[in-house]
Amino acid sequence: MLLLERSGDNMIQNEEKLDKCTPDVRTIVRALEQEFGNVVVTSGYRSPKYNKEVGGVSNSAHTKGTACDFQIPNVHVYKIASWLLYNIRKYNWVGMGVNIYTQFIHIDFKPRKSTPAIWQYSRDGKSL
Ligand SMILES: [Zn+2]
Repeated sequence: MLLLERSGDNMIQNEEKLDKCTPDVRTIVRALEQEFGNVVVTSGYRSPKYNKEVGGVSNSAHTKGTACDFQIPNVHVYKIASWLLYNIRKYNWVGMGVNIYTQFIHIDFKPRKSTPAIWQYSRDGKSL
């Protein structure tokens, strides 16, 4: 019961952080919540000023509302990454970048391409 209440709180907080994000970002978080339950969005849309304050790259997808960072407590980041890869066609997520950190995952969407694609960024933010 406590877990469900906490999960509900997170869903409301997630909604606020994703308010200025694109439908793709909101859809992916909803799908992750359905699959894993307790998704904690740590960063969604950032104003350019806030992005600079938190040390984001100047051209960050967060400033365009096409990115979010999230954690799912007690679920390994590679389990989440493999779920994203497995479901990319089901949800028609084409052009999704994934950066796997130890504590959270960053995802972003680029303009749609004709074929579903997923890529992982290196630590310097360049796609591999
Ligand atoms: Zn990010």
